[in-house]
Amino acid sequence: MSDLLARHRAVIPNWVAVYYDEPIEIVSGKGNRVVDASGKTYLDFFAGILTNMIGYDVPEVREAVERQLATGVVHTSTVYLLRGQVELAEKIAKLSGIKDAKVFFTNSGTEANETALLLATYARKTDQVLAMRQSYHGRSFGAIGVTSNRSWKNNSYSPLNVHFLHGADRHLPQFRAMNDADYIAACVADLRHVLATTVGGDVAALIAEPVQGVGGFTMAPDGLFAAYKEVLDEQGILFISDEVQTGWGRTGSAFFGIQNHGVTPDMMTFAKGLGNGFAVGGIVARGDLMDSLHATGLATFGGNPISMAAAKATLDYVLDHDLQANAARTGAHIIAGLREAGKRLPIVGDVRGKGLMFAVELVDPATGAPAPALAARFMEETKKAGLLAGKGGLYGNALRMAPPLTLTMDEAAEGLGIIVAALETINAEVA
Ligand code: PLP
Repeated sequence: MSDLLARHRAVIPNWVAVYYDEPIEIVSGKGNRVVDASGKTYLDFFAGILTNMIGYDVPEVREAVERQLATGVVHTSTVYLLRGQVELAEKIAKLSGIKDAKVFFTNSGTEANETALLLATYARKTDQVLAMRQSYHGRSFGAIGVTSNRSWKNNSYSPLNVHFLHGADRHLPQFRAMNDADYIAACVADLRHVLATTVGGDVAALIAEPVQGVGGFTMAPDGLFAAYKEVLDEQGILFISDEVQTGWGRTGSAFFGIQNHGVTPDMMTFAKGLGNGFAVGGIVARGDLMDSLHATGLATFGGNPISMAAAKATLDYVLDHDLQANAARTGAHIIAGLREAGKRLPIVGDVRGKGLMFAVELVDPATGAPAPALAARFMEETKKAGLLAGKGGLYGNALRMAPPLTLTMDEAAEGLGIIVAALETINAEVA
């Protein structure tokens, strides 16, 4: 064990998510690659943790931050007029498609979701909330309440009264056997049943991830969220789309994940990639909701000039270079290659993805059962070969990959080659 890892273990909580036996220390980065303390280079297929949306050491972002630093003001307070905050909010409000949208900036996704839940429960005067099975929305009181992924929830407490709906979690055999239309009909019937028999009155909101991130990049079938929205609208229940992982074109086919489903939510929350490494989160929502509560009045650091400069430069870069189209193109190439490899490798239980957000589930070739040990093995094998990935999912057996949206076709082919080679090695060991 390295000296730094020993010191880390002594002062950082045990539960910190560590994907590797010996996590590397990243000391520099350029383009879509990072370098560790020993000088080894890695192609980053997890973009930090979907944070480095347009790669490393991007001149446009660096220069925007340096220009702000040169003014001598890192941050004063959000009680003053901040030009960068207004300009970025205007862009996000327009892109959101939400009517009369307003934006409130936070420092993380957790804080953004907390704000959304506060607004929804206040607007509807109830603590009843709907969320999805297998979800992850953050670490705080409200956000952990609407999280159902047990490994993160871990017996924590929450003030919310939450009811979990089916969506991307088609693990039960009866759901697997159904076609999408029948499954959607069953989910909607279940939602109506929950509303009629389980909740003790009005419901504030449904919060959902369009593609479940921590849950293993799992997707509800097309049409499910639209069908849910119809039922919610009948009762005035609000829809919160958690776009922390799916925003800004990552799914290739839409700029925000929920737009893949033809649904316009009442609120969207975001964070991770927007600042390209600088801490920026936020919520974009209907103006009437945003104006209803002082909770959207002031965050000391949310919307600060440095993170706004980084975020505006990042968003402009994404739009100017049409990175959504790049995500669609490079992602389709990788997903097709993984599907092809999956056909001949019995350890591959499932390949799924949209744009530059794709996952491979590893299973025991004999029983088809989830194989988290093989996922751990994959992480070590790809690390050795110079590629960084992520893992997770309900059973810890989903390999999750989300490279920067700036990935080139050459890098896509290189990464695909490393992934397939690692899968072949592991398959040969166990199949
Ligand atoms: N929502 C989703 C979908 C996430 O994936 C995450 C983090 O992984 C969060 C919220 C929490 O964001 P943060 O870690 O910035 O608080």
